[in-house]
Amino acid sequence: MSEVKKLAVIGAGQMGGGIAQVAAQAGIEAVVFDSFADSIERCKALRAKLLSRAVEKGRMTAEEAEAASMRISYTQSIDEIAGADWVVEAIVEEKAVKFDLFKTLAKMFPDESVVLASNTSSISITEIATSAGGAASRVVGMHFFNPVPVMKLVEVIRGMQTADSVVERTLALAERLGKTPLAANDRPGFVSNRVLMPLINEAFYALMEGVAEPEAIDGIMQLGCNHPMGPLRLADFIGLDTCVNIMNVLYEGLGNPKYAPCPLLRQYVAAGRLGDKTGAGVYEHRNK
Ligand code: NAD
Repeated sequence: MSEVKKLAVIGAGQMGGGIAQVAAQAGIEAVVFDSFADSIERCKALRAKLLSRAVEKGRMTAEEAEAASMRISYTQSIDEIAGADWVVEAIVEEKAVKFDLFKTLAKMFPDESVVLASNTSSISITEIATSAGGAASRVVGMHFFNPVPVMKLVEVIRGMQTADSVVERTLALAERLGKTPLAANDRPGFVSNRVLMPLINEAFYALMEGVAEPEAIDGIMQLGCNHPMGPLRLADFIGLDTCVNIMNVLYEGLGNPKYAPCPLLRQYVAAGRLGDKTGAGVYEHRNK
């Protein structure tokens, strides 16, 4: 199977932009499609800033940054991703929107060598593959972590219909992007969120029951378990609404009440305290 030369990234958000950047740094041409002009403008500006910061910190030369930047193109017309030999979808985490997109992608890319990957954090790869009809065996989960240029892991998710060769090629591409890929099967939350989210949820129970103050809960997990940040701080970073959504995926998908989102976590969301992105969550972030 020939090497990937042109990667189409769908969605110019924080993840899509990061995926395009790491592909470009690995010498792969990346075309980023987004339906919103302002998302594309934000993405361009952020990538330019991150590449120049990488030069300042001595992580790449100015020539390498310039070459990477030249390899990324942006478009608001999906027709312009034709000719790509690999697609990574990184649009909003909504089932109906992703299913529609994969139906379109299956028609746009009849060539059986083109892989249709999704960066979803929680939606079933098997269900996404089903929406791609005859292209189901080419659909795979390629779950990058935020921020993509920094985080080493790519969780590669095999849907029920995913061909073995597609999993093998996905592992190889992730390595070419300088990442460490690890494979998981398609179960709710895959491995990362199946293990991480209940930990975060339990931290909210501890807070709700007054086991300790937030700083102590986070400090105990940071210092005692050597986690880079405590679970409540991490929840603010991820977004408390996202945490509730992922807990609901686990709860519904596994049918076990132990995965129900903690009432205090839901209450923060009801109050509009979603974490860093709204300026306040468990902690105040407004002045940071
Ligand atoms: P984001 O909101 O930053 O970006 C999503 C982008 O998709 C936006 O630019 C939006 O304009 C665009 N978009 C929406 N609908 C579209 C459509 N139909 N066609 C084309 N473009 C469309 O979101 P994000 O944080 O980059 O997340 C993207 C995906 O990656 C989600 O599936 C999310 O679950 C997953 N993910 C996110 C993280 C994270 O930490 N943010 C980590 C791993 C995986």
